Amino acid sequence: MIKVFPAFIFLITFFIGLASTQAQETDLSRVIDMHVHAGPDSRPRAMNDFEAARMARDAGLRAIVLKNHFTMTADRAALAMAQVEGLEIFGGVALNRAVGGINPEAVRQLVAFDGGRGKVVWLPTFDAEFYVKRAGTGDTYVSVMENESPVADLLQVFQIIAENSLLLAMGHSAPEEVLALIPIAKQQGVEQILVTHVFGQEATAQQMQQMADAGAKMELDWLAAYTDPGLLRDYAAAIQSIGAEHFIISSDFGQAGNPDHATGMKQFIKALTEVGINQTQLGMLAEQNPATLLGLD
Ligand SMILES: [Zn+2]
Repeated sequence: MIKVFPAFIFLITFFIGLASTQAQETDLSRVIDMHVHAGPDSRPRAMNDFEAARMARDAGLRAIVLKNHFTMTADRAALAMAQVEGLEIFGGVALNRAVGGINPEAVRQLVAFDGGRGKVVWLPTFDAEFYVKRAGTGDTYVSVMENESPVADLLQVFQIIAENSLLLAMGHSAPEEVLALIPIAKQQGVEQILVTHVFGQEATAQQMQQMADAGAKMELDWLAAYTDPGLLRDYAAAIQSIGAEHFIISSDFGQAGNPDHATGMKQFIKALTEVGINQTQLGMLAEQNPATLLGLD
């Protein structure tokens, strides 16, 4: 008996531990990652589209959005969906110089491609005026505003987004540009607007509140907080003061050397829980709000 007893205690402890680990295992079955980078790309990626789709499906994710800064991804999303059953895969186009900048025809083709997976139009990212000027490289940039008005082709782009129920994402625009463009896009009939990684664009708390009031949702990305964990407290403060209904979370993973997207989403959800974000809020951030933006359910 004296020898059996410690073994018995060990077994009980082991099974309790196992049960609680399983209970804590994050359920990803309704989680959507709106920001998935994968290869082929012109910068080093950790996996290709098919591998990213397979890993996301195996982890149980509901949907992913393939994002590339330089090429359209509606076709890639359709191919990935044909290869990997069991999750929704969307694509889009980022209006950088590689597709002609603010080019309505690039958006028309996004919509026209077979498979109907084209869903997101990102305003310029690496070629955005705000981004290029801040980086101080002197590179050519693509403006979205001129003399405080949107450039003419942007109104056409908004029109196509509205007609096809696409999602307008603000790319690397300045917060001031975002605030000016939201009402104009809404007026053109654009319903879903996402402010791309709002903290990376250096929006103030007041500007974030104004973006929320204007009817846009804001993206909080894991990549930035993974690199700079101090950012998590700022994320949590914004969620608590402005409201989880105005934000989504995404991984922005795919860089060579970083974990896969589903792992990123799990890490993000766990990290947010640790800074006081509750289950209801997490449901809005990772599940309901992204679904609304993509026109799911
Ligand atoms: Zn990204």
